[in-house]
Amino acid sequence: MNGNTPTILVVEDESSIASFVSLYLKNAGYTVKTAASGSEALAQVAEREPALIVLDLMLPDIDGIEVCRRIRQESDVPILMLTARDEDIDKIIGLEVGADDYLTKPFNPRELVARIKSVLRRATPDRREHDNEEIWHGDLHVDSGRREVKVGDEEIQLAPKEFDLLWELLDHRGLVLTRDQLLERVWGYTFAGDTRTVDVHVRQVRRKLGDASPIVTVWGVGYKVSPAPQSQKEAAAS
Ligand code: CA
Repeated sequence: MNGNTPTILVVEDESSIASFVSLYLKNAGYTVKTAASGSEALAQVAEREPALIVLDLMLPDIDGIEVCRRIRQESDVPILMLTARDEDIDKIIGLEVGADDYLTKPFNPRELVARIKSVLRRATPDRREHDNEEIWHGDLHVDSGRREVKVGDEEIQLAPKEFDLLWELLDHRGLVLTRDQLLERVWGYTFAGDTRTVDVHVRQVRRKLGDASPIVTVWGVGYKVSPAPQSQKEAAAS
């Protein structure tokens, strides 16, 4: 009946916000389901996987972080988290729950729709135009087809946006990319977004890759990739 319009699950216990968001998304052409608690959200996701989930952080039973974590054990469905406070965004990213994007309340509903469109566009199977490319950088090996990152023989788990950010920088070796450019290329924003998102993700990538991280800060400009160092194997052979 709904044809091919993507279904969005809105998880929010405050009914005024839930109905406002639902109305806006319906007007934007989406089919909308709602859930007023974490357990209801998990049940709905299991029953019929939505195209995207808008997930509020503060819920009456299971909080949004835990809901996100449980969904991620089963599914790669895109998740956009809503938070009441700015600091919660650092928390969500720091806890690595695997959300695709974040918005702080109060938000402009047009921005919500823009972000949803962008996340859905990125989540389609042809999300990367450079399928099956591989890049080596010292001991770091990144395979964009498998979306796999290894340091030596050890596989490193990156969240989707962390992977895209790392790939974007490696794919532009020798160039400095500004935070705005990275926002646009990795997150797909066509308007001025929050560039702090870029910094937080860079921090996560560096923490996970340790000494193998190729990302260099260019103060006042943005980020670039360092020249490729010799790998451990090459060093051992020479
Ligand atoms: Ca809430």
